[in-house]
Amino acid sequence: MYVLVVNCGSSSLKFQLIELPEERVVAKGLVDRIGQKVSAQFSYSSGERSFPVATVDAPDHPAALGHVIAALTSGATAVLRARSEIGAVGHRVVHGGEKFTGSVVITEEVLRCIEECGALAPLHNPANLAGIRACMEALPGVPNVAVFDTAFHQTMPPHAFHYALPYELYEQDRIRRYGFHGTSHKYVTETFAHIAGIPLDRVCCITCHLGNGSSLAAVENGHSVDTSMGFTPLAGVVMGTRCGDIDPALVFHLMKVKGLGAEQLADLLNKGSGLLGFSGVSSDMRDVLQAAQQGHVRAALAIELWAYSIAKYIGSYAAILPRVDGIIFTAGIGENSALLRAVICEKLRGLGILLDPTANERGKGARCISAATSRISIWVIPTNEELEIARETFELTARHE
Ligand code: AMP
Repeated sequence: MYVLVVNCGSSSLKFQLIELPEERVVAKGLVDRIGQKVSAQFSYSSGERSFPVATVDAPDHPAALGHVIAALTSGATAVLRARSEIGAVGHRVVHGGEKFTGSVVITEEVLRCIEECGALAPLHNPANLAGIRACMEALPGVPNVAVFDTAFHQTMPPHAFHYALPYELYEQDRIRRYGFHGTSHKYVTETFAHIAGIPLDRVCCITCHLGNGSSLAAVENGHSVDTSMGFTPLAGVVMGTRCGDIDPALVFHLMKVKGLGAEQLADLLNKGSGLLGFSGVSSDMRDVLQAAQQGHVRAALAIELWAYSIAKYIGSYAAILPRVDGIIFTAGIGENSALLRAVICEKLRGLGILLDPTANERGKGARCISAATSRISIWVIPTNEELEIARETFELTARHE
């Protein structure tokens, strides 16, 4: 079966066409700058073939999807004979609130619930819905599945997901920790259990998704029991442009002394902080690393702040889990930077967590990188959120056939 995986942002539509159960990526690409003043850009590749980036007219998500389906089914880029060969569509949906504890086949009722959860993720859920509606229209009769970033963390116990705020705020406004990157944490947990030969319902691990946005999860017996992001993705460790955990009183202090309003503060903390705000160099870790290596003092300190915040979370999760079968590094930084994995692990020596320097530096793909004497094994496992979405879509729809 061909599963189209769709990930819509407010001005972008990322997609992959994946054949299952073979798990073969047939084509993938991105329509960027949807609905903006400048023309939209369409990049597309199929198998080994990359096509030149095209300028397209895409005032909205349905138009962008039209270009994707046309590329998949016609001309030199075609990989399908007709759109009817698409057996199901899997959508990344950012917020499933407390309603969704797993992926679901989309019905009118599900659409209503996703819309309701939009109050919790006003920047993301409306774009995800636009993508779903576009697919329902362009591919009538084809099942659509929603895969939520929050769902994997719905197993957190109350003492982990509640904030010590007046309880009415939870009851009336659903204020609690939700956590994000769930699809990635779930994928690397499953992969780790598989390659380490541990039954999924017995695996205990700490998953570290370290990219531009970063979060960690404590996984007990295959279930997330805590995670570093909170009500929003602003909480937790230091990120590219987000501050991570700060004293909440800083918000009203800044309102008073700087006269900042809610929106300006949201921008400051979400877009102007983290590696970018502190170093003044860039939000991109490679740039910050390069600056640090050239002697930029604040860039070097930004990396220290970043690594320290991650090591503290790993330590606290090691404390609350009954045991830790593995610490897993994934996403852009976690997968690619041996140096930064070493910087983090150096801070964990007190827990007997030791890297094997050679395994850390060399090797590719999913692998163990800890020393034989390490009290906890350390792993690199490349994440693949699109594949996880495709698998769950296939699972839910092939069963319906
Ligand atoms: P992601 O959000 O998962 O795509 O990750 C993006 C982040 O990974 C950016 O900050 C990149 O600079 C960072 N990154 C990618 N490759 C490397 C590398 N080799 N060393 C350090 N950071 C990297």
